[in-house]
Amino acid sequence: MNVWEAVADLVVVGSGVAGLTAALDAAGAGLRVVVVTKDSADAGSTGWAQGGIAVVLGDIAGDSVAAHVEDTLVAGVGLCDPVAVRQILADGPAAVSRLRARGARFDGPAARLDRTREGGHSAFRVVHAGGDATGAEVERALVAAATDRRLPLLTGHVAVDALRDARGAVVGLAVLDDEGRPGVLRAPAVLLATGGYGQLYASTTNPATATGDGVALALRAGASAADLEFVQFHPTVLYTGPTVGRRPLVTEAVRGEGAVLLDRAGHRFMAGVHPLADLAPRDVVSAAITRTLAETGADCVHLDATALPGLPTRFPTVYAACREAGIDPTTEPIPVTPAAHYSCGGVVTDLHGRTGVRGLYAAGEVARTGLHGANRLASNSLLEGLVMGERAAAAVLADRGARSPSGAAVEPPPAVPIAPR
Ligand SMILES: Cc1cc2nc3c(=O)[nH]c(=O)nc-3n(C[C@H](O)[C@H](O)[C@H](O)COP(=O)(O)OP(=O)(O)OC[C@H]3O[C@@H](n4cnc5c(N)ncnc54)[C@H](O)[C@@H]3O)c2cc1C
Repeated sequence: MNVWEAVADLVVVGSGVAGLTAALDAAGAGLRVVVVTKDSADAGSTGWAQGGIAVVLGDIAGDSVAAHVEDTLVAGVGLCDPVAVRQILADGPAAVSRLRARGARFDGPAARLDRTREGGHSAFRVVHAGGDATGAEVERALVAAATDRRLPLLTGHVAVDALRDARGAVVGLAVLDDEGRPGVLRAPAVLLATGGYGQLYASTTNPATATGDGVALALRAGASAADLEFVQFHPTVLYTGPTVGRRPLVTEAVRGEGAVLLDRAGHRFMAGVHPLADLAPRDVVSAAITRTLAETGADCVHLDATALPGLPTRFPTVYAACREAGIDPTTEPIPVTPAAHYSCGGVVTDLHGRTGVRGLYAAGEVARTGLHGANRLASNSLLEGLVMGERAAAAVLADRGARSPSGAAVEPPPAVPIAPR
C-alpha cells in the first residue's frame, strides 16, 4: 500500500548531468518537475568525471564539428548511428554555452578556454574544469542552479517501477522514499536519467549508484534496450592489488599531455599497435594492455607521467589518488589496468529521448541514442548528457503541447523511428 502520493508534470529519475539539465529546462518552461535520486544529489558518475567535455567551440584552427564526428565514428568501430553522431555533436557548442550560463566555470580565460586531448581525438578539443575535476564542477553548477530555482529534488528516493495505464502509457513512478516507505509520483512523463551499470563488474571506475536500474525499469515498462554488450573498459585505472568495487581513474588526458604506457620491462608496447599509439581509442588500448598482461604474466602495466610538468596542479584528482595509494607519480610510473567504465548501450531512444513507450523518456548514459556505437569516444558522454537532457525536456514539452519560455509554440521534433539493431 502506498504511504504517500504526489503529482507532477514530469518526474526525472537521476540528478546527474542529463537529469538536472532536463529538469532545469522543463521547469524553466513552466512544467511542475520533481527530481528523485537514490543517493545524495551528487553521487552519480557525473561528479566523478575527470578529463572534460569534448566540444568544438570554433576557436581552434583546423578543428571542426565534422572532424569530431569523424573521430566519433572511428572510435565507435562502424556501429554508431551517423545521424545521431552528427546531430548530437552539432548541438554540443550551444549546450556547453548554456551550461556556462548556468554557472559552470571551465579552466582558462572565458574568451578562449584551455583544451586537452584524449584517446581517439584528432585535435585538442576537450574543455575541462579544476584541472581534472570537470564532473565535480558540472554537478556543482547544476545542483546550484536547481537549488536557486527551488526545484524539488528528493534525495535518498529510489525509483522502483513505472506505473502504466490500461493502454500501456507511463503515468507515473513507484518510489521508495528515504525511510523506505512506498509512494507514488503521478505524472504523464517520466524521464530516466539513471546512468550506467559499471557496478555489475567486479572492477569499475563507476560509483555505487551505477547499477543499471533505469534499464531494468524501462524493460519492465515495455521499452527496448540495445547494445548492452558494449561496455567500455577504461585502459588506465589505478591498480593497487586485486580489489573489487570502485577504483580511481587516471584520466586519459594524462596520456593526452604526454604520459606513456610501459610493460614490466619498461618497453612502450603501444607503438606499432595503432597510428595514435598511446592515444588510440580506449578499446584498442585496453585490448593491448590485456594482451600484454597475458604475455608477461604481470598484474598491471605502468603509466609513466614523470616527464609531465606540473602534474600535481594540472591533475590534482589523479595526484591525490596516487598519493593515497603510496605512489608519487612525479617520480615513479603509475600501476594501471583496465576496468569497466562506460555503458555504451542502454534504453533505445530516438534523438529526442523518447523510448517506444508513451510517457517514458531516457537521456544520458542510461540511453542508447546511437552516438557511441561499440566504443564511446573519450569525453563525449557529458556532452551527450547535456544535449540529450535538453532535447528530452523539449520532447516532453512538445508531447504535451506546452509552450516555450518565450511564449512561442514548441515545434514538435520530427519523429525518428525506434529500431534496435
Ligand atoms: C571516474 C569517471 C570519469 C569520467 N570521466 C568523464 C569525462 O572526463 N568526460 C565525459 O564526458 N564523461 C566521463 N565519464 C562518464 C560520465 O561521467 C557519465 O557518463 C555521465 O556523467 C553520466 O551522466 P548521467 O546524468 O547519465 O548519469 P549519472 O551522473 O551517473 O547520474 C545518475 C543518477 O541517477 C540516480 N539513480 C540511479 N538509479 C536510480 C534509481 N533507481 N532511483 C533514483 N535515482 C537513481 C543516481 O543516484 C544519479 O543521481 C566518467 C565517468 C566516471 C565514472
